[in-house]
Amino acid sequence: MTAQRTRLSVPLLDRLVPRFRNMKPYEPVAPPERLEAESDAGEEGIVKLNANENPYGPPPRVRALIESFNAANIYPDPDHAALRACLAEYTGFGAERIVAGSGSDELIALLTRLFVGSEGTVVAATPTFGMYAVETDLSGARFLGVPRSQDDFSIDLPGLVEAACNASIVFFSTPNNPTGNSVTEEEIRAVAETEVLTIVDEAYVEFAGKSLMPLADEYPNLIFLRTFSKWAGLAGLRVGYGVFPVDLASILMTVKPPYNVNTLAQAAAIAAIEDLDNALATVNIIVKERAVLQEGLRSLPSVRVFPSEANFLLVRFLEHDAKELHASLLRRGIALRHFNTPELRDCIRISVGRPRDHERLIEALREEMEAQK
Ligand code: PMP
Repeated sequence: MTAQRTRLSVPLLDRLVPRFRNMKPYEPVAPPERLEAESDAGEEGIVKLNANENPYGPPPRVRALIESFNAANIYPDPDHAALRACLAEYTGFGAERIVAGSGSDELIALLTRLFVGSEGTVVAATPTFGMYAVETDLSGARFLGVPRSQDDFSIDLPGLVEAACNASIVFFSTPNNPTGNSVTEEEIRAVAETEVLTIVDEAYVEFAGKSLMPLADEYPNLIFLRTFSKWAGLAGLRVGYGVFPVDLASILMTVKPPYNVNTLAQAAAIAAIEDLDNALATVNIIVKERAVLQEGLRSLPSVRVFPSEANFLLVRFLEHDAKELHASLLRRGIALRHFNTPELRDCIRISVGRPRDHERLIEALREEMEAQK
């Protein structure tokens, strides 16, 4: 019998490329089963308002497709031909300019890998979506956040343009996660004019009702990203896409993993577009409920609710400990998003849910805020 080797002369983890030894993780949300197991929610069940998911799920045509799906044994189309044709019609941009990803997360990762070397700098107005900084870290590059106003989270445009001049990529999230406000056409133009690669992430655009995607035809350095995770209720299937200059799209098609968007995800995304009216009906409900939730939150003492064009609201607690409120609501089975960063210290992000979710939320918040006094 060969002796079991218990030690290596150079341990595996010491062989990691140095920058991967102490990575700061993106904090993904826990799945519902874990939230349920770790809370005292009991029969009431959990209220999941922490990941900007669509509480109504995908439209009927997608649900029927999922029920009858019988092609799990077949590899997906690596060219996403049917999906890209469908997206071409939906967006008005040619299929040769469209690339799909396993969520728009994958496209953010691919673009960072392609354009940011370890000497590079990636810029965004912060606070913003955490994956831009995470992917920058993975590239060994520097992430430079240009702070937004702490008062209304508007962008410091001169600061952003100045930073853009030495950057490999500038990311915009619009409406911005987690602040909810949108970027203006003027802001995108000002950054794109510097000729930096400008990536406009429209993950929540369907809830805002206005897209700046037509600008893609005016600037060869401007890219737009979208996702099916929010408006179409497909977060679990992972489908995102982007509109790119045609030569970049063909490079992305070459470097992406061949089967990056699975068969069911491709078919479901097509079905969501075919069932657009129903999908947009839930978007409309969410937009209406956003206003109701906003009113409910504003009825609480000492809170500031920021205006939002997305499917979530950012709330700043002026006299209460947001971290503690977040933890006590979680114990009661109500999952919200708290960011442990100085820019968002007193803030909690709340996804728009169903009316009954909001009732439980407001009641629990009121009680916990009272208990903190
Ligand atoms: N961009 C933004 C701004 C987001 O908030 C998210 C989801 N949290 C994504 C991209 C990624 O979406 P997905 O990978 O599910 O398409």
